Amino acid sequence: MKTKRSRTNVELENLLRQLGLALEASGIGIWQHNIAKNQTRWDEQLKAIYGVPKAPLDVIWLESVHPDDLAPTNEIFLRAIETKSDYASEFRITRPDGAIRYLRSRARYFVDAAGDPCFVGAEWDVTDDVLLNKELERSREEARLAADHDHLTGLLNRRSFDFALSEFARKESVNVTLFHIDVDHFKEINDRFGHAVGDFVLCHVSKILLKAISAGGVAARLGGDEFAILIPEDESARISAVLDHIQESLGSPIPVGDQTLIVRCSIGVASAASADFAKLLSHSDLALYHAKRNGRNRAEVFCDEMASALANERQLVQDLRSGLALGQIRPFYQVQVDAKTFRINGVEALARWHHPTRGILAPAHFLSLASSNGLVAELDDVILKAVLSDMESWASLLAGIRVSVNLSADRLDDPEWISKLASFDIPPGRLSFELIETIFLDSLSDQVRENIQTIKSFGIDIEIDDLGSGHASLLGLLELRPDRVKIDRQLVMPILQSVPSRRLVSSLVDIARALDMEVIAEGVETLDHARVLADLGVHTLQGYAFGRPQSYADLTARLEREALEFQQAGAISAC
Ligand code: C2E
Ligand code: CA
Ligand code: CA
Repeated sequence: MKTKRSRTNVELENLLRQLGLALEASGIGIWQHNIAKNQTRWDEQLKAIYGVPKAPLDVIWLESVHPDDLAPTNEIFLRAIETKSDYASEFRITRPDGAIRYLRSRARYFVDAAGDPCFVGAEWDVTDDVLLNKELERSREEARLAADHDHLTGLLNRRSFDFALSEFARKESVNVTLFHIDVDHFKEINDRFGHAVGDFVLCHVSKILLKAISAGGVAARLGGDEFAILIPEDESARISAVLDHIQESLGSPIPVGDQTLIVRCSIGVASAASADFAKLLSHSDLALYHAKRNGRNRAEVFCDEMASALANERQLVQDLRSGLALGQIRPFYQVQVDAKTFRINGVEALARWHHPTRGILAPAHFLSLASSNGLVAELDDVILKAVLSDMESWASLLAGIRVSVNLSADRLDDPEWISKLASFDIPPGRLSFELIETIFLDSLSDQVRENIQTIKSFGIDIEIDDLGSGHASLLGLLELRPDRVKIDRQLVMPILQSVPSRRLVSSLVDIARALDMEVIAEGVETLDHARVLADLGVHTLQGYAFGRPQSYADLTARLEREALEFQQAGAISAC
């Protein structure tokens, strides 16, 4: 009997030892609280957790609890006493050394042998878990912010803008206005000033947009240089106020190194009630498209006619595509004459669309359409091929006559085009390319520079078209060294009445001479103009005074007639 008891004691002791070791290893502290006697007992581990190995036990617990957690923690404890139920709580304590720890506490209600209500509980330190969770939560929040916002400008990104839009759509009877904003010529800003300035411009615009919206509005960067703002209003006065704010703020130049830059935007505006939201983006997009097509740096508000105009335009683009493929776009030619002798020394090829129902169309009817639909390259190729074939058939008629072909500037940026050019059979010294469009002549890319040299090495001349219309710069001219410059029609026209215009043309002639370039004047409408221009030193004249652009057949007849007249004049003078 005795042996059996001692074995049980030994087993019990072992069990208690194991339990003690397990508790020690787990870091769990144990407490017991006699509710009736208000007595508390803590084990050594719990005192270590609280950092109070010697403190009197009845005062330490609530005093250690962090002031912000005190009220809820105490309330949970008192409710457990009241309901005689299990207790679970989590709270912070401040230890005497100032450290703040997070504790988790679990306790079970029981009645002891004396009949007193008691709790026995366990507490352990969960600070590392809590901090880790907080850290995870913070990174999740950061990731969420990054996923919702544009990293550069801090505005909403496209995804969250779409979400904001759908949230508005769910509200009943809300009228909203969407402004779709695009930075004008952003690619050029990037190319010219570098990406850091490009980024700065985008941030500048986003600040302006943020200021333009009042509470309840949303501003987003939809991608690239495209922005959108949404306001929960559709009164025209409010729309005008937003547009005025944007346009006025954009009006102040921003410093870029030792230069200043004025950023301009095109804006498309559309309003809708929440029920019609599906159309809002497409309408504002269409209005933006019209703003760009009408010259940029402007805002257009959507109207129904825009949709039908677009349908017509789409049809025209299709017609243009097939027109290019079917050979409906062919060159007309306008003669250029020597300013002293008035004899033809060149012709300029000008594209004409022989439209099946609308007759012969000049570039004003289709060039910007071709440009906005990426068809200018094809147009230039079609014209160049036709010109080369016409030149072949003219052969001897072209003695001493050069043919100029207009070239869009981005062809010069295209290495494939240059190798294609090399495959054409181009007689040296007979062809000239006129560079049109706004090109930043003083910041030529290496590719453009290289391609210009290659073109020159093929024996093709380079001309700068529309000199004086604001596109070309003197620095660019110095670098590019074109063979010829064409003084713009707008400068030529007023020379009869205006002394300053004459002086300007004269200065351009001087500059061209200094750079060893020939000068052509275009838009010469009268012989009086021709005489003044010749006196000012212009070499070649082009304009209605000497003939309008004409078809291949008409020009052929004219060249033959002039060749004959020349022969006859030669024969007369020989007699
Ligand atoms: P541009 O190169 O400046 O061509 C001169 C324009 O002025 C032509 O208009 C011509 O018809 C017009 N013009 C000629 N003499 C006079 C004149 O005495 N008075 C007035 N008021 N106008 C005159 P067009 O043919 O309508 O061409 C317009 C523009 O289209 C051209 O301007 C050129 O920039 C572009 N273009 C024409 N053909 C092509 C082409 O094959 N490719 C490309 N990329 N552009 C082309
Ligand atoms: Ca031209
Ligand atoms: Ca021109």
